[in-house]
Amino acid sequence: MKFGGTSVADLTRIRHVAEHVAREVREGNEVAVVVSAMAGETNRLVALCREAAPLHDAREYDAVVSSGENVTSGLLAIVLQSMGIEARSWQGWQLAMRTNAAHGAARIDAIDCATLTERLAQGQVAVVAGFQGLSPQNRITTLGRGGSDTTAVALAAALGADRCDIYTDVDGVYTTDPRIVKTARRLPRISHEEMLEMASLGAKVLHVRSVELAMLYDVPLMVRSTFTDPAKAPPGTLITGEDIQMEQEAVTSIAYARDEAQVTLRDVPDAPGVAYRVFGPLSAAHINVDMIVQNISDDGTATDITFTVPEADYDRAMAVIESQREEIRFGKLIGEKDVVKVSVIGVGMRSHAGVAATAFKALGERGINIRAITTSEIKISVLIDSATTELAVRTLHSAYKLDRVPAEG
Ligand code: ADP
Ligand code: ASP
Ligand code: MG
Repeated sequence: MKFGGTSVADLTRIRHVAEHVAREVREGNEVAVVVSAMAGETNRLVALCREAAPLHDAREYDAVVSSGENVTSGLLAIVLQSMGIEARSWQGWQLAMRTNAAHGAARIDAIDCATLTERLAQGQVAVVAGFQGLSPQNRITTLGRGGSDTTAVALAAALGADRCDIYTDVDGVYTTDPRIVKTARRLPRISHEEMLEMASLGAKVLHVRSVELAMLYDVPLMVRSTFTDPAKAPPGTLITGEDIQMEQEAVTSIAYARDEAQVTLRDVPDAPGVAYRVFGPLSAAHINVDMIVQNISDDGTATDITFTVPEADYDRAMAVIESQREEIRFGKLIGEKDVVKVSVIGVGMRSHAGVAATAFKALGERGINIRAITTSEIKISVLIDSATTELAVRTLHSAYKLDRVPAEG
């Protein structure tokens, strides 16, 4: 069982979480619980690090921002004990949750579950601090924002759990973010492949790595609500390895990602090797480039190149390009951070024609300008101004007929 930040936001909610745990214990299950920090706490800790020094040691950042989960795991253990349930908290290093040394975005390598398995068999509930691990140098690491989902799936895989339930503030995975589209529909089941695409294109309901691990280790994953009564509520969304339907709809969901930034180079010489002179140095600086658009030049001498990078890397990307001014010989460098990537996703796209045209028509009719486009077999992404995000998501959601039909009467 994994509980996110809103589910453990204060003691009243932690008591409510303890009731969910107690229910599973009563049903005779051995239970390991993974908790996030209280809602807003990780943001507060990140801000403190930045305030302490804008450029800071990534190892100390992890020591600070991992601490929110220490608090909630201890508090939940205390509350469970007060209810007469045997429980104890486990921090990442105590398990040990071994990761690589990529501070701030560490990947889990191995979990030693021997002691945990013993304790579970004795009837003790394990309350594990999510998001954190231990590097080969024995320093505390964190798995990247939203990483507690990944702790939960990794632990479920290592323990050979029957189920991994992700409890959150929505009652499942929807056709798009239900907070911005009220008519979004809950999906009773979704394939690993589609969930992975949704998560990596911005649907933050699950951390990308958690879906990868669920796929790799075949962990049955269920997204469900902390705040509804399981006896009355729908069961949530099951994420499985099976193909969901024989005849897939072309499009099953819409996602958006705000953390993109656009860089445009005007008047770049239209000559062999120029793309490498732009993207080589970015790659050397470990900056991931996502969308790329190169215009056809009118006269065969000069062109424009537009690409996107993660917003967090924007300043570095601009500096890298500026430092290559002589080599690339561009006219002008233009950047824009107020952009968002909106994506249309569906494995059924593989066998449908005209899927992209529907998106372009609908966005055009709403006067939404497209800055860049990328496509793959199962998704179409467009880059637009952030101000039009909600309109674009709603427009596409309707254009692909994903809206919930209101009940009659
Ligand atoms: P937690 O703190 O429990 O990990 P998150 O805030 O990380 O919760 O993720 C849940 C949020 O994900 C929801 O509140 C919702 O706004 C957002 N979300 C984005 N896309 C979707 C989607 N397709 N389906 C459901 N929720 C989504
Ligand atoms: N507390 C961490 C965060 O806010 C991890 C998580 O909630 O999954 O990113
Ligand atoms: Mg989350």
